[in-house]
Order: sequence, then C-alpha cells, then structure tokens
Amino acid sequence: MNNGKIILLTGASSGIGEATVRRLVRDGHQLILGARRMDRLVALSEELGSIDCLPVDVTQEQDLRQMAMFALSHYGRIDVLINNAGVMPLSPLAALKTEEWRQTIDVNIHGVLNGIAAVLPAMQQQGAGQIINIASIGAHVIYPLAAVYCASKFAVRVISDALRQETDCIRVTVITPGTVESELADHITDETAIEAMRDFRRITLPADAIAEAIAWSIAQPDSVDVSEIIVRHIKSP
Ligand code: NDP
Repeated sequence: MNNGKIILLTGASSGIGEATVRRLVRDGHQLILGARRMDRLVALSEELGSIDCLPVDVTQEQDLRQMAMFALSHYGRIDVLINNAGVMPLSPLAALKTEEWRQTIDVNIHGVLNGIAAVLPAMQQQGAGQIINIASIGAHVIYPLAAVYCASKFAVRVISDALRQETDCIRVTVITPGTVESELADHITDETAIEAMRDFRRITLPADAIAEAIAWSIAQPDSVDVSEIIVRHIKSP
C-alpha cells in the first residue's frame, strides 16, 4: 500500500468527491480539497480531521494554481490530482440552453485542463505523479439530451490519453462511472431531461463504488499506469 500521498481533489463537496475523501482518508493520505461550497468542505474536515480545504472554482485557472501552490508550500510535493468536479445540465440541443452548454464545457473540459496546468510542472520536476480524471460512461456512448455532456466527457478521455502518451513519468488514469447516486442530476433545468433522468437513474451505484476504484488505482506501484477503469451497475445495458 502506497500510504501518505499528497492528493488534490476537486468537487469534494458532494457525491463521488465526498465518498472519495472518506475512502482516501482511510488509506492515510493527506488530502487537499477544493470546491465552491466551503461550508461542506469544512464540515467534512471537522468530521474526518486533518484535511485542508480551499475555495476552488475549477473554471478559474488561478484557483487551481493556488491549490497546487498550497500543496507545494505545505507538503513539498503533489503526488496525485483528482479532477472530479463536473456538471451535467442535460437538455435537447433544440432547447438552445447555450449558457448551460458553455458551463458544461467550462467546468468539465477547462476545469480538467486548468487542473493539469496547475500540477504538471511540479510533477514533471518530481519525475512522478498521477492525474486522475473522472469521465463518464457518456465518454463511450452518446445519449440523446446529453450531446454537450457526452462531448465534454469524450474530451476528458482524449486529453487524458494524449497526456499519458506525452509523459513517461506521470500516471494518467481515467475513471469512468456509470450511473451513480449523487446530486449531479439535481441541477437539470430542462423538463424533458428531468423526466428522462427519473427513468434513467432508477438504478444507481453508490458513490463508494467509484471511490474504491480511485483508491485502488492510487495504490498501484509507480510503474503501473491504470489507464481507465469503467465501473457500472451490473444491471446496466
Ligand atoms: P455531484 O453534483 O454530487 O458533485 C459534483 C461536484 O462538482 C460538487 O462537489 C461540486 O462542488 C463540484 N463542482 C461543480 N462545478 C464546479 C466548479 N465550477 N468548480 C469547482 N467545483 C465544481 O455529482 P457527482 O459526484 O456525481 O459528480 C462527480 C463527477 O463524476 C463529475 O465529473 C461527473 O460528471 C462524474 N460522473 C458522475 C456520474 C453520476 O451518475 N453521478 C456518472 C458519470 C460521471 P461545488 O458545487 O461545491 O463547487
């Protein structure tokens, strides 16, 4: 077991992020959490102890750079970045929810790129590190109502695989969840998509199942690149 890693995690305030915090603390890692809802992060830190929390909007390059600088100044290195923050405001393209398209691309693609930009120089200097990007089954299968979301998650896979090929010292892992219990669908504003999600999300995995896959990938030896793990419910089509 590779205990005691310095791990940055975005979107730690709910769902998969929160479950991952709970799982990684059990392995003895030092966590630095980022999200916009600081009250949730602080509550988690008070409950679990010895966790650092920072206000992070992943669309803001500066926020992620500050997260990385915090890790380097307090711990001297960054072992793992988990780009988990994401949004999924589904709608048919014809609804022209252009602001939600922009938000999806900003958070799900630029957010991941901002995270990579923040940690890459330090990891290259260290000659080691791991970047874990949370994609989605929507990065493999295209669903109606999810054009922009699927496009954003396809992009996460593409960026991850290119990054993996461009470096021989950084492990790049894509974690690809199926449908998971979380707050992700709560922010959908389109009535057609809300209705469709009621049916689509009838069977979900607990967020713990994804946290377990993340923890396992981190625990592998430095020479082992776990390129992608798909985790979905046994009853998924
Ligand atoms: P949640 O809605 O429960 O969590 C999303 C997290 O992202 C929150 O912590 C939220 O924090 C954070 N977030 C959203 N926007 C921003 C932003 N601009 N800056 C920083 N943080 C942000 O959903 P999940 O836990 O399900 O989602 C986690 C990841 O898993 C996402 O990338 C999602 O696409 C992916 N995924 C989820 C699936 C599912 O079925 N649940 C399936 C496949 C993939 P805050 O609002 O406090 O900033």
